[in-house]
Amino acid sequence: MAKPDYENYTIAELLDCREQIDKQAWPERYQEILKHIAIRQQDPEQKRVHDEIVFANFCQALSYELSCSIDDNLWPLLKVFSKSARNSQPAAFEDKVCPVCSGELDVSHKWGRWKVICHPCDIGYAFQENHQANLW
Ligand SMILES: [Zn+2]
Repeated sequence: MAKPDYENYTIAELLDCREQIDKQAWPERYQEILKHIAIRQQDPEQKRVHDEIVFANFCQALSYELSCSIDDNLWPLLKVFSKSARNSQPAAFEDKVCPVCSGELDVSHKWGRWKVICHPCDIGYAFQENHQANLW
């Protein structure tokens, strides 16, 4: 297999490679991918694209986690009936920080829709409980 020409990859493709690559089998390629991602991030525009992709992937994982846990599925219902639960968040959101700046996330839930916002990064992501997720 010829060595991929990471130079010509877009930031999205590089991030995709980072997720897909078998680190054990291809440690040098993995390092090369990281290096190219770091180089791209020096460009503010590329950095923005990078941050949005990272944030979107993070929220997708979160929405998956949310829909996998029975307790969390009950949570929106519980919230209506329980005073103490009203200000709490489901376990999927506990200890979660912004994947970009490690800052606190602003999580809200309304009409079956989750909104995850990082104010310092100015990135927001919304997803339905049924998994449909959209960057906005
Ligand atoms: Zn952030």
